Amino acid sequence: MYRDNRGGGGGYDRGPREMHKVTCAECGKETEVPFKPDGTRPVYCRDCYQKRKPKRF
Ligand SMILES: [Zn+2]
Repeated sequence: MYRDNRGGGGGYDRGPREMHKVTCAECGKETEVPFKPDGTRPVYCRDCYQKRKPKRF
């Protein structure tokens, strides 16, 4: 598999952020992410994403 963020065809520097509709791998909720899911790893909604982050202060 080819995984290269550069030269894909989308400038990330300017312009509106492209949102991609995905289904959260944790709760199954529909959500949008500012990156293109490559299909090789699960995508989570904001809630689940934060829940998965280890909370350490
Ligand atoms: Zn979720």
